[in-house]
Amino acid sequence: MSSKDILITGGASGIGLGIATHLGQLGHNIVIADINLEPAQQAAKTLTSQGINASAAALDVSNAEQVGALPDKIGHIDVLVNNAGIQHVARLEDFPAAKWQQLINVMLVGPALLTQVFLPEMKARNYGRIINVGSIHSLVASPFKSAYVSAKHGLLGFAKTLALEVSEHDITINTLCPSYVKTPLVEQQIAAQAKENNMSEEEVVRKIMLEPMPKKAFIDIQELAGCAEFLLSPAAKNICGQTLVLDGGWVAR
Ligand code: NAD
Repeated sequence: MSSKDILITGGASGIGLGIATHLGQLGHNIVIADINLEPAQQAAKTLTSQGINASAAALDVSNAEQVGALPDKIGHIDVLVNNAGIQHVARLEDFPAAKWQQLINVMLVGPALLTQVFLPEMKARNYGRIINVGSIHSLVASPFKSAYVSAKHGLLGFAKTLALEVSEHDITINTLCPSYVKTPLVEQQIAAQAKENNMSEEEVVRKIMLEPMPKKAFIDIQELAGCAEFLLSPAAKNICGQTLVLDGGWVAR
């Protein structure tokens, strides 16, 4: 496959960094866009030291002005990975309204804005691959994560709708939905979940994160990177508007 120009939001850490590294090692050109510029620059430097063509850009995906200015800043892209994400765990009565809005803006409005600004050129070139990072919580709920669960459910509706709007072009949009992956985002939420559920942190990991999965194991970042590679392959040319669930059988149960 010819090398593609790939933008990965939230690529300075966790799943985004794993996808950036894997796709870079396959010979693609990588732009890491993250609200935290310094770790994004550090990540791009590490990739560059491995011989990967990588750069970093400062971006808050929920800021329409910044998103609108991005094409002029980074140029053309073939592949957009909407990965940036945050979490807040609280029962609804205690959930600050501003936090609710922020989660929706980062994880639902952000992907829509980014797709909107890069879509015209993808259509003009008749090629584009859009990969959203959803979650098991795109499909099943979890108490005290109302904003996160709502945003991640919304991403599936967005992908399905856009699949219809790009049907005349060689453009696909799909959503990867992993259950739990050991990243800073998950490590940070364990304590909050323990508090809200009145459990120890060890119980949160065992009962909430692993027990619902028949395979009872965290998902490895490389599995997500492999799915992204597949979605860029010719075999996935007609996979559009779909949800790839990496959950060890959770939803099947
Ligand atoms: P992470 O915290 O390791 O990485 C998230 C990255 O997003 C960070 O680099 C952060 O700086 C960046 N970011 C946050 N807000 C941003 C904004 N407004 N604009 C641009 N960048 C921003 O988390 P992760 O676990 O790697 O999460 C990546 C994605 O995977 C998220 O969408 C998350 O919801 C999803 N996900 C994670 C898990 C898991 O178990 N870790 C499971 C399912 C889905």
